[in-house]
Amino acid sequence: MFNLILFGPPGSGKGTQSEKLITKYGFKHLSTGDILRSEIANQTQLGLEAKSFMDAGKLVPDAVVIGMVGAAITANPGVYGFLFDGFPRTKPQAEALDTLLSEHGTSINVVLAMEVPEEELIARMIGRSKTSGRTDDADPEVQKKRLSVYKNETLAVADHYSQFDKVVSLNGLGSIDDIFNALCAEIDARA
Ligand code: ADP
Repeated sequence: MFNLILFGPPGSGKGTQSEKLITKYGFKHLSTGDILRSEIANQTQLGLEAKSFMDAGKLVPDAVVIGMVGAAITANPGVYGFLFDGFPRTKPQAEALDTLLSEHGTSINVVLAMEVPEEELIARMIGRSKTSGRTDDADPEVQKKRLSVYKNETLAVADHYSQFDKVVSLNGLGSIDDIFNALCAEIDARA
């Protein structure tokens, strides 16, 4: 298996690049944001609980997202590999993911980290809010909160995988295709 974490702040382009990568390589896409939004759309208990955290720009509790990811891994045996998008977002999530994967005899191969300046992230979130219907993209206070959560809690995930030399940083500014090609080159060098 080849398992990849696409890492970066909110608005860095993880969703866009994930779509292209799953088409090219056949990864199973595991986006915790997408799973949570579908739980909200289906008005499940989990969705109702998650919505207030998401609307405030806060993280959904670790136990909830770890449970979701564990179930998704178990439900998809025999895939080429998983592309994790928006997960892990805290150090405990990263440690839990490593344990889950090792229980399935596999591990993270590489963490591709997309770097984008903060002004650009905010501009992208505002742009996305006009078409996505995402309430968490439109509000400046919520944008600020998400960026501070990224710095205070999520950057620790990159530190965690740096210990094992698994992190590669890439410029997340440029055309979608140029960034995609840079991501593919890193995958092809390791696959
Ligand atoms: P983006 O990366 O564009 O900010 P996501 O779709 O990945 O958006 O996530 C949207 C929201 O869903 C987050 O702000 C958070 O509230 C919740 N969420 C998604 N993934 C996680 C996670 N791994 N842990 C905790 N909360 C999460």
